[in-house]
Amino acid sequence: MTAHSDTATSPRLHLSGRVLPEGAVRDLWIADGKISWKPVDDATTIVSGGWILPALVDSHVHLGITEIGGPLDMGALREDMRRLSRAGISAARVLGSPQRLPLSEQPLPGEPQLLTAGVPVAAIDRFIPGWGRRVPDHLLAQACTDEAQSGWGKIIADWFTPTGYGPCFSAEAIEAAVSAVHAIGARIAVHTQSSEAGARAAAAGVDSIEHGMHLPLSALDDLAAHGGFLVPTGFVFEQLKESMLDDSQPAELRDWFATGLEDHPSLVTGARDRGVPVLAGTDLPVGALVDEVSWLHRAGLSAHDSVGAASWTSRRVLDLPRLRHGDRADLIWFAHDPRDDLEMLRSPELAVIGGELSAAAP
Ligand SMILES: [Zn+2]
Repeated sequence: MTAHSDTATSPRLHLSGRVLPEGAVRDLWIADGKISWKPVDDATTIVSGGWILPALVDSHVHLGITEIGGPLDMGALREDMRRLSRAGISAARVLGSPQRLPLSEQPLPGEPQLLTAGVPVAAIDRFIPGWGRRVPDHLLAQACTDEAQSGWGKIIADWFTPTGYGPCFSAEAIEAAVSAVHAIGARIAVHTQSSEAGARAAAAGVDSIEHGMHLPLSALDDLAAHGGFLVPTGFVFEQLKESMLDDSQPAELRDWFATGLEDHPSLVTGARDRGVPVLAGTDLPVGALVDEVSWLHRAGLSAHDSVGAASWTSRRVLDLPRLRHGDRADLIWFAHDPRDDLEMLRSPELAVIGGELSAAAP
């Protein structure tokens, strides 16, 4: 077993190892930034042995944010993208930005591929001050189609009330928005943390439920029926626990958060049991993908499924490159099976992002 730590771009590469999720020993070649299943001439063998995975994916993240409610920061956006690449994360779904991301369609070699959702659409007075496109109920569908032009739209379907938390839009408005976005060939992600808004969104046929705190198990049946998926962002909720359960919070709000957090793992296993894909997403700040993978494992997913939530499963569900012949070459490599120690995912021993080879930095 050998591994070269050469950081120069190497146009023609060969790897041999156990390829996940199947785990069979295979040979892969890389030429012109793409995966080849057939031998290519003059390829340099960079690894022989070990474990090859489709590179990591963060399925719910916000980039270029330096201040909650503040404007998009282009310097921070570029630094976030470099940070993703260094961590072996070659794709991310950016679920809402202060303004639409000014990015080219095709990522450069070495850069992560971004799926973007424009500006999140929220009710007039129900979202983080300074962020979101604010609309009344009857204008939700139009705003969502405007913001979903790059492929994904995002609705903030519930938010804080003066004493608790609850829905922002009617069931009819959510249904109209889902139909309108699907009619232009785009997909719609919906932020929910209340049972009412979650149930409405799932029944309306949304493509994904984001967070999903308090989502009724019956809504998972609706998600399964429509081919939707769940991004539970459990780690970020754990991080918020202390501030949300502080005595200074209204009792109703504390109770809402405490019961939601307690029930969140059962949502993950409920989704798994119904065949609803569960994907790893980090929300804010950037950089907690492996923490979310570990949370999914603690919530009850197997190590295999927890890694898949940040790799092959998200790539299949989001239709991203996944080591098929002709796909963009996005992979990570480990000498040992990362399912035996999820912490290994923090520093892949090799990463190929868009065909560009690097020894990933910690
Ligand atoms: Zn978010």
